[in-house]
Amino acid sequence: MIEGWYEETNRTWGNVLADTAERYPQAEFVVYREQRVTYANFYEQVQRCARGLLSVGVRRGDNVALWMTNCVEWLVVQFAAYAIGAPLIPVNTRLKPDELCATLRQSRASTLVFKRYLLGDSIDTLPWLERMIPGVDRAGPQRMCAPELPELKRLICCDADVPRGALAYAQILETGQGWECDADLRRAAARVNPFDVANIVYTSGTTGAPKGGLSMHRNNMAALYHWIERTALGPGDRVYLGVPLATNFGCAYVSQLSVMAGSTIVMHESFEPRLALRAIESERITWFPGAPTMYIMMLGSPELGSADLSSLRTAIVGGAPCTPATIGAMKERMGFRFVVQCYGLSECAGLSTSTFLDDPIEKTATTVGKPFPSCRLRIVNADTLRDAEPGEPGEIWLHDAQPGSCVGKGYFEMPAAANDAITADGWFRTGDVGSFDEDGYLRLCGRIKDMYIVGGFNAYPAEIEAVLHTHPKIRMAQVFGVPHERLGEVGCACVELEPEAVLDGREVIAFCQERMANYKVPRHVRFLRGTEFPLTSSGKVRKLELRQRVARDLGIEV
Ligand code: AMP
Repeated sequence: MIEGWYEETNRTWGNVLADTAERYPQAEFVVYREQRVTYANFYEQVQRCARGLLSVGVRRGDNVALWMTNCVEWLVVQFAAYAIGAPLIPVNTRLKPDELCATLRQSRASTLVFKRYLLGDSIDTLPWLERMIPGVDRAGPQRMCAPELPELKRLICCDADVPRGALAYAQILETGQGWECDADLRRAAARVNPFDVANIVYTSGTTGAPKGGLSMHRNNMAALYHWIERTALGPGDRVYLGVPLATNFGCAYVSQLSVMAGSTIVMHESFEPRLALRAIESERITWFPGAPTMYIMMLGSPELGSADLSSLRTAIVGGAPCTPATIGAMKERMGFRFVVQCYGLSECAGLSTSTFLDDPIEKTATTVGKPFPSCRLRIVNADTLRDAEPGEPGEIWLHDAQPGSCVGKGYFEMPAAANDAITADGWFRTGDVGSFDEDGYLRLCGRIKDMYIVGGFNAYPAEIEAVLHTHPKIRMAQVFGVPHERLGEVGCACVELEPEAVLDGREVIAFCQERMANYKVPRHVRFLRGTEFPLTSSGKVRKLELRQRVARDLGIEV
């Protein structure tokens, strides 16, 4: 039987925006700095941008990478790409040039939309572009040549200071104003299908190579449909957006969710606790989604006591483990009426479980709730591959309840990675460990995949180890996460040096800082002799044991 919710999600994100803009044309969609953009105005900008993209040759299935911190143009390009069926690649602006280049290459991005300046003009992106695309500021857009990025056809710059090799975003909008492009856009939009890929979200995974999780229009829509029902989000709600749009949390959750519910986004370029508290007061925020670190930072801010937070109703917390003490403080000291915990992965609709508004605090503080009707969830015993008993921990596996309602299409051009992650009968192995409690609520207990989360950002040891192994003085490196009060976890590297080599911890950290996004850079470095690494009988390092031992030496409880 086709259920109502499944019918409702038989749409594309282009359709969803069109419907919301028609229902609430004068409602504010996004408030950013001095800009207040209504749904009608946003829709108009998206249409112009979509027509402009078509006019410069972007087609359904052409991957469009977005490399910018939060701004209105980010949202416009996001929905314009959805409207024409061009998969969107949100690129984390914390990546370093080599990481960025590897992502653009693997994803075969045809178009890179970027800002010349990031974070209030503090970063000029031109030298980075020069490294990837030599001569980008010398020749015109038609002559762009990027030997490292053979598929890249065009750059679109969203600032006034446009490098010579890029097209100006303003010009794209201008081109898209002509009525003659309208028919093209209608034709293009009609070809987009709910099963088309909407987002390609990159992670590094356990091999260290970037891999792009493919999610369809329908995946996130199905989860968000249930999410809106569970959390009563609606028009009139004012949603804070401080997480980066370039993450699953930002683009596949906050922005899509708000468009679906017809609510308003109050957005900052990046999260800063003092500014967030001020925005809650001045913009009367009702709904606050964030990673645990964001709440911990606001709770520790000296401005907390003086800010008027009376508008706050619902806090959404997810993406990383959150302690019961933090959840209690969010209710008591910030005045949230409801706190909802959720759990999910970008490869599986972004979200798969959540608690309910009327759950008692014990449930909200210790579980991530129940699965949405759009996904099936099993806890699997790793040895028997059978369902675990209630209370018994096992790996969390996810499955579609209806075709396309949960599990994405695997990884972009990495069939082997998809085969590893998804069983022949469609179950996605999350690598997370959990158990069901007596009421069927999911409790997370840890991870079997080699990953840790730093302030909401996933860090993959394999990737960091691969960088450390390029250091001529390092013979072997093992990286893992250790607990950290504010960030949840931070990286720790155990390093064995080449014979006679001399290196100190600061030099190791500086080496990493040049080559990887800051959140990946290990905070602790320990030097060990080869014989000090605990090994399995097959010669592999016992990471858990090593982690426990090093954490004990560092005085950290694990
Ligand atoms: P991403 O694909 O970036 O959304 O990251 C997904 C991973 O984040 C999951 O596989 C979990 O390991 C972790 N995660 C997501 N939600 C939670 C949560 N509520 N508590 C702890 N870890 C979480």
